[in-house]
Amino acid sequence: MNVVPPTIENVRRAAEAIRAGGVVVMPTETVYGLACDATQDAAVARVFEIKGRPDENPLIVHIGGLDQLERVALRWPPIVEELALRFWPGPLTMVLPKRPEVPYRTTGGLDTVAVRVPDHDVALALIDEADRPIAAPSANPFGNLSPTSAWGLDDAIRTQVELVLDGGDCALGLESTVLDLTGEDPQILRLGSVSRGDIQAVIGRPLGIVPPPAVRKSPGMYRRHYAPKASLRLVERLRPGQAGLTFEGAEGPTQVLMPRDPVAYAANLYSTLKRLDDQGVDEIAVVVPPEGLAWEAIHDRLKKASAR
Ligand code: AMP
Ligand code: MG
Repeated sequence: MNVVPPTIENVRRAAEAIRAGGVVVMPTETVYGLACDATQDAAVARVFEIKGRPDENPLIVHIGGLDQLERVALRWPPIVEELALRFWPGPLTMVLPKRPEVPYRTTGGLDTVAVRVPDHDVALALIDEADRPIAAPSANPFGNLSPTSAWGLDDAIRTQVELVLDGGDCALGLESTVLDLTGEDPQILRLGSVSRGDIQAVIGRPLGIVPPPAVRKSPGMYRRHYAPKASLRLVERLRPGQAGLTFEGAEGPTQVLMPRDPVAYAANLYSTLKRLDDQGVDEIAVVVPPEGLAWEAIHDRLKKASAR
């Protein structure tokens, strides 16, 4: 097995592999990532191939800190530094004009690059050892659930990478929020772990979400995405014996009691759907969560997972 604990020695091995143009799986606080050197075209091409990801679907580039932003981005407005101070390291991805060193392969042909600093010791150590910006989409076949633990990895992914650094469960379990800072006003391209309310508090005004059809700009916007193998259906309540996620009165092995706190809910969502998938359930019913900005990203994922 190529799944290894994240000792200094193993992080060095992974860093060597990345510098040599290889692909590894790394833990982050959001989900596990399929990681390679963001500046090596062939390595990035390999990541797309392993995931079965459409070419025009750009990757997020991970750096070690705000001081490394100039390695990948050409310029940025002052608000970027304010946002970075508040949310980095953390699950806010910012889209900025790209430097020529970042190949179009990485950005899906766009002149912009999506960049963030992961809040995870292993990911940061790997970036530091490799001394490269690291491109890493979620380590799942395109369209499927993102893995939030090393055991959640699909064998089809695991067997094609040099090494999997096992960092245990991801603390957040939901992808980063993607914010476009190339236009007049910041705009959310993809909802994620940082809520719209938290970003609004920093920029001091209401923040829009780019409506789906407008976007070839953002692939998290495919209609069906983040989906388990079972079909997923949103419901008001679970019937007796119906497999699914609920907030009260869960009974039997296929009904799961979910937390009423959105952060805790997000942390458990993908792993719970995966567990029901592994139990061979055909349909997963999900009791509709509460409304509100803190639940927005969860509604987004459930909607996409239930699209046919
Ligand atoms: P994933 O790595 O699978 O979580 O997906 C990466 C996400 O980053 C996509 O959903 C896009 O929304 C976003 N993204 C990456 N690069 C760009 C970019 N240059 N412009 C707009 N969105 C981007
Ligand atoms: Mg993904």
